[in-house]
Amino acid sequence: MAYKLNTNCVQAGYTPKNGEPRVLPIYQSTTYKYESSEQMGRLFDLSESGYFYTRLQNPTNDAVAAKICALEGGAAAMLTSSGQAATFFALFNICSAGDHIVASSAIYGGSFNLIAVTMKRMGIEATFLHPDVTEEELAAAFKPNTKAVFAETLANPSLIVLDIEKFARQAHAHGVPLIVDNTFPTPVNCRPFEFGADIVTHSTTKYMDGHATAVGGAIVDSGNFDWMAHEDKYPGLCTPDDSYHGVTYAKDFGKAGYITKATAQLMRDLGSIQSPQNAFLLNLGLETLPLRVERHCQNALTVAKYLESNDKISWVNYPGLESNKYYELAKKYLPNGTSGVISFGVKGGRDAATKFMDSLELGAIVTHVADARTCLLHPASTTHRQMTDEQLIAAGVTPDLIRLSVGIEDVSDIIADIEQALSKM
Ligand SMILES: *Cc1c(COP(=O)(O)O)cnc(C)c1O
Repeated sequence: MAYKLNTNCVQAGYTPKNGEPRVLPIYQSTTYKYESSEQMGRLFDLSESGYFYTRLQNPTNDAVAAKICALEGGAAAMLTSSGQAATFFALFNICSAGDHIVASSAIYGGSFNLIAVTMKRMGIEATFLHPDVTEEELAAAFKPNTKAVFAETLANPSLIVLDIEKFARQAHAHGVPLIVDNTFPTPVNCRPFEFGADIVTHSTTKYMDGHATAVGGAIVDSGNFDWMAHEDKYPGLCTPDDSYHGVTYAKDFGKAGYITKATAQLMRDLGSIQSPQNAFLLNLGLETLPLRVERHCQNALTVAKYLESNDKISWVNYPGLESNKYYELAKKYLPNGTSGVISFGVKGGRDAATKFMDSLELGAIVTHVADARTCLLHPASTTHRQMTDEQLIAAGVTPDLIRLSVGIEDVSDIIADIEQALSKM
């Protein structure tokens, strides 16, 4: 029976049989026992599915991946050790030296660095474009060796809302998949596959875990991109893999081909598995995700309206505000709310921003967003400090920008804290 998202957050991925534990067990085991070497051989050949070593697969992780897959409405999914690993695997699974990526310039600082610096060292080039580009400008960025388009549904920290359909149309017109980082909205607020995205990545570290306890990531494949129709572009998926006795992922595994390749090759060789303990914590977080996301969004909208009406604040950026440039796009793609994250500037620039942040009592300065506790960060001096001023502006980050992640505390306490800190300026 197909359930709704709220039900899947609680129930999907794990259905105990008679007498088995009600709660998903932590399979804290590196290895799995078999009666015959022959059977284990079939597992190694991928001709039979089963567990043999936790670097490749683990039952706790698979149950949690299956839940996230159900939430996004995908065909196959995998967990990774972090959001960074998810982004890297999602791209590297279909790109290699000599290839090219089209990416939004408004992406998380770590993702920007991964693509612009580290993947460049691997021989993969990228063209970064502001998400608001016209369709013609976007089309002009594609090259014969372009293999993927990468962008964020709701950009961290600029909160630019992606026109997913525009990006999907151009990706497909050029025969490549659209990969969307859906970390901030979570599938509760947006399911990018419904708008044409092909692959979704997550830093599960944020709202999905929601309690700031476990770093993790996930990749979900919609199964919609027809790799075999672009056989020349994706030899890794569409021609036999000698390191796995000639399997052809896109042919032999159908809609699970992309995830099977990422597991069998990348996880095997690069080893960025999520620990089963962390997957267990992530699963607990997922059970309450819709409740928390709803409260985060309610609180954030209330705080954003308060900030907008305060004369010590120079600007407020929250796509849920009617005054916001992305309000219409948010209504289309994020009708139930955007996220708990707001950015704003304090009058008096960088120094005033620092003074304000140091005066907060409830809101804590941390390098994190999207957990139950209200927290703040100054990106220009922390997460984005490796960027030049030009790159900062392209990413939608001004030097006075404060990123406020509104928690699920009582909103009147959050506002009282902001008020007392502003009064000290
Ligand atoms: C945090 C974050 C990442 C990186 O995830 P980690 O789990 O910290 O590795 C990627 N994308 C977005 C949008 C993020 O917020």
